[in-house]
Amino acid sequence: MSGKYYNPNGPRRKKKMTVGRFLKRYSFWLVAAVLFVFCVVVTVGIVKEIVGPKNPQDSQLSTEQGGIDGSNPSNGADSTQSTQSGPSKEVLAVLDEAKNLANGYDYVAAIELLRSFEGYETQQEIVDTIALYEEQDDKLVSQTKQQLNNVPHIFFHSLIVDADRAFDGDGEEDGYNLYMCTTAEFVSIMEQMYQNGYVLVNPHHIAYEVTDETGTHMVYGDIRLPAGKKPFLLSQDDLNYYSYMIGVGDGKNETPIFVDKTGDGFAHKVVIDENGYPVCEYMDADGNIHVGDYDLVPLLEKFIQEHPGFSYKGARAMLGVTGYEGVFGYRTKPSYEGKMGTEAYQKEVEQAKQVAQCLRDHGWIIASHSYGHPRYGDLTAGRVDADSTRWENTVQVIVGDTDVILYPHGSDINSWRQYSFANEKYKILYEDGYRYFFNVDSTIGWTQITDTSFRGGRVNIDGYRMWNSAEKLAVFFDVESVFDPRRPTPVPPLSGSM
Ligand SMILES: [Zn+2]
Repeated sequence: MSGKYYNPNGPRRKKKMTVGRFLKRYSFWLVAAVLFVFCVVVTVGIVKEIVGPKNPQDSQLSTEQGGIDGSNPSNGADSTQSTQSGPSKEVLAVLDEAKNLANGYDYVAAIELLRSFEGYETQQEIVDTIALYEEQDDKLVSQTKQQLNNVPHIFFHSLIVDADRAFDGDGEEDGYNLYMCTTAEFVSIMEQMYQNGYVLVNPHHIAYEVTDETGTHMVYGDIRLPAGKKPFLLSQDDLNYYSYMIGVGDGKNETPIFVDKTGDGFAHKVVIDENGYPVCEYMDADGNIHVGDYDLVPLLEKFIQEHPGFSYKGARAMLGVTGYEGVFGYRTKPSYEGKMGTEAYQKEVEQAKQVAQCLRDHGWIIASHSYGHPRYGDLTAGRVDADSTRWENTVQVIVGDTDVILYPHGSDINSWRQYSFANEKYKILYEDGYRYFFNVDSTIGWTQITDTSFRGGRVNIDGYRMWNSAEKLAVFFDVESVFDPRRPTPVPPLSGSM
């Protein structure tokens, strides 16, 4: 070994002498040169920090960790050193606002916002950030029409917080096992879908109604995402916290049932936290009330805060509500007023209205899930009309107008053929303002867009589907690794539906 590398007669000895002399003579210049190189390296480092990684291989990283976060001078002490006094408060604020837009892949709006800042050309941080966003915008790819026609849609019911209470062997256990997921399962599913490149969109991003010289009709949207990212739709049915889940009621009587500790381990209402975010109240088995991430809404809010690239342009899920007990856990059914007294009833209504506004402000879409949860497919047109009108008069007045309906039991008003106004039920629902119609269909991504409607199939994510269709769900997540071990198995066969 040594023979190969050691040459006693080689230049080594000679060099040693020369180096010593050289050092004595040129030490000042050497130190100066080293300092200069050091300064260059540091400067390049700072510039990189501001501009962000030039070649973000992983778009997730570029969106959420390196690129945008790194580009925001408010995030690092390093970057403030790059200017004499550091960017002003106003500059930091506009950069922050732009970052929020960029996180949702809306680089165009982010750039527009930055350019609207007066004198932005003289603000290096803004100029650099615009350059970075332009670069990232160039990398986005428009979804093709075919892709827009195949956006998968998954849905959940209320999530089980305490599996021991849900799976306690009572009469509801099988229903929960079939139709519900636990909070742990939901979070694992979102994590895996995020890792698999899914990005939450809302149906208005896919297609929307315009009125032009040819009349009013649906047009396809332009969803632009980094290569490899895939849009998906998400909804939750029955965000009502029915009395059978949260207390002793069966939901069918005329007495409003509020939460008690005999509940089956679900949240019992949506409330607004001190930061203005929608969260949930949950009563544990000892009767203590907790406020936090106890259902899909707050869990998804939190997940998107941690992974902003999971939501395209601020999209959230669609939330289907019925009216026969109330909405979001508030006992707002009109006939309760007589039992509760006007003051107590009005308080429920007021709180539910505030929650609806809070949800809307955060990008959630509130949808009709009918008033009484009947199968629209089986009803006469007259009864569809009556149920829809009742929803408008008792629910819409609280949650606001909507153009989305999530059919109860997934029961559609038509065969697979396109909707037409020859279908009386469709005509009624169209006139009631609905444009987005979702049934339940195990075919992933089934969509039908016409001039007047957007119709889609949804895949239920629950015990039944996970137990029976693991291979089908593999496109979203790995069932085995998310399946809650507290869930009784085998999951029972279907018995009715929710
Ligand atoms: Zn339902």
